[in-house]
Amino acid sequence: MPELPEMEAWRRQLDGPVSAFPIVKAGPAHIATLKTFDPPLSVLEGRQLAGAERRAKRLLFPTEDGEHVLLVHLMSAGRIKYLLAGEKGPKTPAFQLTFEGGGRLVLTEGGHKKRAGVWLLTPEAAADELVHLGPEALGLGADALAEICANESRRLHSLLRDQKLIAGIGRAWANEILHTAQLSPYALSTELSREEVERLAAAIDEELARGLELRERGANDAKTYRVHNKLGEPCFVCGTPLARVDFEEHTIYYCPTCQTGGRVLKDRRLSRLLK
Ligand SMILES: [Zn+2]
Repeated sequence: MPELPEMEAWRRQLDGPVSAFPIVKAGPAHIATLKTFDPPLSVLEGRQLAGAERRAKRLLFPTEDGEHVLLVHLMSAGRIKYLLAGEKGPKTPAFQLTFEGGGRLVLTEGGHKKRAGVWLLTPEAAADELVHLGPEALGLGADALAEICANESRRLHSLLRDQKLIAGIGRAWANEILHTAQLSPYALSTELSREEVERLAAAIDEELARGLELRERGANDAKTYRVHNKLGEPCFVCGTPLARVDFEEHTIYYCPTCQTGGRVLKDRRLSRLLK
C-alpha cells in the first residue's frame, strides 16, 4: 500500500499538470470506485483544479472556485497517473478526468477487488472525512509523539499504523522506522523512555524523508526498503539475517540484533492462539 512518501511523491508530480487546464470530461468512473453520486461528476466539467493536496494517504483535488473537492484514496492496489495528450493509457480506467488539450488524470486498480475510492465532496464534507485522522507523521516531533505514546498503551508497530493517532504510516514504513529507531515492534508505547521516544520521532522523520526522496527519483520497492520484505537478507547495519513475524493481520520484518536484543518474536495472531 502506498504510504506517506509514495503519496507525497505523487502529489508533487500531479500538482502542476492537474491545475494547468480546465476539465473537459469527468469520468468514466467504475461504479465501485466512485463513492458519491450527488453532485454528479459532470459538475466538474468546465472547472479548473487548484492543484493536488495530500492528507495522510489521501489525495485531494480542490476546484479553483472553492466549491468542490475530489478526494482519492488508492488503498493497496490503486495507482494514479497524469497522462499527456495522446499518451497510451488503460482501456478501462477505474476513474478518469480529461483536461483541455487532451491530458488525463487516470486511476487504475490491479486485481479484481475494487477498493480504491473517489469522492466528490464540498470542502466541508471533505474536512469531515478527514477529521478522524491524527497529525501528519512527517514532522510530528518528540513532544507530540510522547503524548501519543503516553495516552495509548499499544505495541509500537500497531501504534505507528493507527491513522487516528499518527497519519501516513503503514506496515512497510513502520518496519523501516522501527529498525532505524532500534526499537522492538512489540515494545509497549507507554514503557518507552524519553530517549527512546526521541529516537523514534527522529526515525519517523529520517525514514519518511528518505522514502520521499527515493520515490521522487522513481525508486522501486526493492531499492527503497531496507528491512520491509527482506526476510533472510543481511541487516544493513549489523549483518544479522532479517526476521519476520506475523502480528494481527500484518507481517512485520525486523532485525533480531538491532531491535530485540537477539530475541526472536513469537507469532501473536489470534488465529494462532486459538489453535
Ligand atoms: Zn541489525
